[in-house]
Amino acid sequence: MALGFIGGSGLYKLESELSNVEHVDVETPFGSPSDKYVVGTKNGVEVVFLPRHGVGHRILPSELNHKANIYGMKKLGVTHIVSLSACGSLRENMKPRDFVVVEQYVDRTKREGGEHTFFGNGIVAHISFADPVCPELSEALYNVASSVAAKSAPGITVHQGGTYLNMEGPAFSTKAESNLYRSWGMDVIGMTNIAEAKLAREAGICYATLAMVTDYDCWHGDHESVTLEMILGNLSANTGLALKIAETMVEKMAALRRKCSCATALATAVITDLSLVPEKVKNDLAIILP
Ligand SMILES: [Zn+2]
Repeated sequence: MALGFIGGSGLYKLESELSNVEHVDVETPFGSPSDKYVVGTKNGVEVVFLPRHGVGHRILPSELNHKANIYGMKKLGVTHIVSLSACGSLRENMKPRDFVVVEQYVDRTKREGGEHTFFGNGIVAHISFADPVCPELSEALYNVASSVAAKSAPGITVHQGGTYLNMEGPAFSTKAESNLYRSWGMDVIGMTNIAEAKLAREAGICYATLAMVTDYDCWHGDHESVTLEMILGNLSANTGLALKIAETMVEKMAALRRKCSCATALATAVITDLSLVPEKVKNDLAIILP
């Protein structure tokens, strides 16, 4: 098993914990990933890290090539991905610097359908996505995050479950939008995770999200509306904790049994007669197809 992380560049510090570190350029049929992957090992577990927005944070959420990012992980043998993502909170009790192990997503992106799937161009598949995160990986992530936080950051709560509203961005919400999402029962808001979760499922990779609350978006009358400065301040204050959680996740990988059905998501999802699929498409998807 290999554990991949997609997150902010603060996670580069994880590198010092790894042996046999390499920075790997991966080519994919879908274009270039956000940056080179950092690959290494720790406790016999292969660890892969990709800075979601590239080194120096150069790529807008809506410009991310999620297909290339997830395909690259698959090509490197990654079986599990933990996404570490800044998010806004739509709930009083999910306060800035808390963590949320997300259970559901709602998609409010405006992307063309083709950007959130490996399929198309002559091959059709419909994956089940009612439960969009891996239950086993999410459980392990919650257990690790809550025990690390209890030990080293007692004021910080790790919330188990919650719905992540994936907005388009890059501008933050209006107050009307923020209140609308609250009335829908959404818990946190971000700009990136829904596409990663869909593509990871198509690729047979277990996926879980650790959302790091940085602000109250703009709905909260007693708190200032979200600014970039606020996000960066709370993120950097939490970098040490996020790193500790990532390191501990690596140590706990050996205990995962993979009794989930993520790896076989495509087994009954492809509807096209494969003899009719163009050779190039078949070759491009060979590492994903059952
Ligand atoms: Zn799984």
